[in-house]
Amino acid sequence: MRILFLGAPGAGKGTQCKRLSAKLKLPHLSSGDLLREAVKDGTPAGVAAKSFMDKGVLVPDNILIDMFRERLSSSSCANGFILDGFPRNIAQAKALDVLLEDLKAQLSCVINLEVDDRLLSDRITGRRTCGNKTCAAVYHLKFAPSKVDGICDECGSALTQRSDDKEELVMARLKTYREQTEPLIEYYDSKKVLHTALGEGEPDQIFEDILKTLNTNCLIKQ
Ligand code: AMP
Repeated sequence: MRILFLGAPGAGKGTQCKRLSAKLKLPHLSSGDLLREAVKDGTPAGVAAKSFMDKGVLVPDNILIDMFRERLSSSSCANGFILDGFPRNIAQAKALDVLLEDLKAQLSCVINLEVDDRLLSDRITGRRTCGNKTCAAVYHLKFAPSKVDGICDECGSALTQRSDDKEELVMARLKTYREQTEPLIEYYDSKKVLHTALGEGEPDQIFEDILKTLNTNCLIKQ
């Protein structure tokens, strides 16, 4: 299965993609995670991406396209993958079409995770992530707090806030989403692969809805 998730920042794509990845045993490719890792490791792509990420705007397309060409062509993606955060504009979506054509593959399903605007900002600014890279559990100050403030329940490491999750950058990221990423809904709808799932409520319920959507429309084996 080759699944692509769309949705605004804070829609919960990361959380749901991680669950789906464990359930379907497919690699979860998050563009944001890959970029943050590249920044941390100081790779040429990371160095080039950092100033854009710090402003909450999109990193140049060629960096993402090269990154995903390498990942999607690797043997770990031979049985499928879950894309989260790429593509993020029409040019990237067209580049993905070409990559998939080269691999003689097609997207099985695009899921648009819908969340009311008022919720998005709350979700982003309250998000906290375990600083231990191999754990990377995600919490929320209000909706999913850790048992001990600032400490990961899973591994005891300190929780951190992503620098671009701070309030002053959230509006810029949501504006970028509206202007550049939202048109992808129409792009994939016209290709008849788009399905919508509601991203509000309890994470377990949202996950069930996503599975139901995939089962009904994409015939997954659970
Ligand atoms: P995310 O974790 O998905 O919210 O991404 C964090 C930041 O990484 C975004 O605000 C962008 O600066 C950058 N980014 C992630 N994915 C892409 C993409 N497909 N194209 C361009 N920039 C991206």
